[in-house]
Amino acid sequence: MDCVFCKIVEGQIPSTTIFEDNDFKVILDISPANLGHSLVICKHHYENLIEMPEELVGKGFIVAKKVAKAIKEATNCDGINILQNNGVVAGQTVFHFHIHIIPRLEKDSVKIDFGDFKTESEKIIEIGEKIKNNL
Ligand code: AMP
Ligand code: ZN
Repeated sequence: MDCVFCKIVEGQIPSTTIFEDNDFKVILDISPANLGHSLVICKHHYENLIEMPEELVGKGFIVAKKVAKAIKEATNCDGINILQNNGVVAGQTVFHFHIHIIPRLEKDSVKIDFGDFKTESEKIIEIGEKIKNNL
């Protein structure tokens, strides 16, 4: 399979690795949003969050928490975004599960914009019911 993150996990493509355990490898993003921007990469190929077993998802976010603390201490950042993209429209470009850890500074150039979607409260309740019925 021609997957850049599988190749990183297997050591076929070099990476700056800052942590690894049996299931995850944490590397520095090659095109960082800020200094310290890291990626928690699953060592097993799953395309996205939905495809992954829950236990592994849980483990991945525990790793992200641990690394986020270390990034905060190392960079003295003012905040941190944990970002996890699923699907092209959501900005996913590498189709192998990963979690972004992005240190944020008071004045940086990162843009995370939720837009100005407008809806009525009935619609919010309606979709809430629909989601509940699928859980
Ligand atoms: P996403 O858009 O959520 O799929 O994020 C993919 C991320 O992987 C981007 O931030 C890229 O800069 C990063 N990336 C792609 N190739 C490499 C690589 N070889 N080493 C490190 N980071 C990479
Ligand atoms: Zn892969």
